[in-house]
Amino acid sequence: MWFTPKIIKKIEKAGLIGRGCNNFPVARKWEAVRKARGKEKFVICNISESEPGVFKDRHILRHHPERVIDGMILAMDTVGAKNGFIYLNPEYFTEFNAKLREIIDLKIGGIGMIELFEKPFHDYIGGDETALLNSLEGKRVEPRLKPPYPVNFGLEGKPTLINNCETFYAISLIAENKYKNTKFYSLSGAGVETAVKELPVDITVKKMLQEFDHEPSEKYFYQVGGGAAGTCYNFKQLNRKFDGLASVIIYSMEESPKNVVMKWLNFFEDESCGQCVPCREGTYRLRNLMRKYFETENLDKEIFDDLVFTLENTSFCALGKVSTNAVLSYLKNVRK
Ligand code: SF4
Repeated sequence: MWFTPKIIKKIEKAGLIGRGCNNFPVARKWEAVRKARGKEKFVICNISESEPGVFKDRHILRHHPERVIDGMILAMDTVGAKNGFIYLNPEYFTEFNAKLREIIDLKIGGIGMIELFEKPFHDYIGGDETALLNSLEGKRVEPRLKPPYPVNFGLEGKPTLINNCETFYAISLIAENKYKNTKFYSLSGAGVETAVKELPVDITVKKMLQEFDHEPSEKYFYQVGGGAAGTCYNFKQLNRKFDGLASVIIYSMEESPKNVVMKWLNFFEDESCGQCVPCREGTYRLRNLMRKYFETENLDKEIFDDLVFTLENTSFCALGKVSTNAVLSYLKNVRK
């Protein structure tokens, strides 16, 4: 086929960016898989969602599961894939597996098969798209070297389209001309009820908080984009857009710095897959350095800077690169 299918043109016109964490234009990815050579292709819906404070995919599965399946079926039809997989974290698999199977049986017709796959662990790295491929193939769950990219060499070496659950949701709206340039945001933390809302893509953090009935104040600080890797801001810094991120966590300024910093560092040390030395050693050493600092109030700044530089610049994948973000932004924007 030399022409671009209508749905890809519509996705391009809508300016849809993937709703996982890669911020990649969806139309380009679909076109790449459609054009990739190969008799067999796959479509995968990534519902790995496992960063603390991010739960928008759960909301979508609860309230709009049909749209996710509709988006997947459109993708399979468009790129020429007979098989699709829904990759779910263990908690979501337990909660939604029966409902999803029912919808798949109703909708799939004769065009192929969609299978559910339960992630072996509730881990963070299993959501990386190449670690996800390893997981589906029964291999060690760790990221692969890129290129080759999954669009050409994905599951079992075949062209594979991987999109997040919310991306498929948005595509089903685009197909029906109902997409209004909105996305889901999750809010949790001090002084608010945990909730998810669908709001404009270009909303500011401040406006989003107001939509959830929270007025920013000096009593709080704010972590935007996940409760581990997200960036911390003080209440005066919230006139910024989300840039593809999807969550805010509110912390009381009275919360102990030791608690918040060690929570982030423990998370990355636990979640590092151990494949590369900078992250395996760096997350471990940074955690120990900061633990010692909180015990002695004495920080070895040279080692701290070395560890941060090494993690950010030499880690193999995004996990190691972003593991310092929360701590550094907290020190810069919240506690100087
Ligand atoms: S950066 Fe961390 S998570 Fe990524 S490959 Fe290296 S050890 Fe694994």
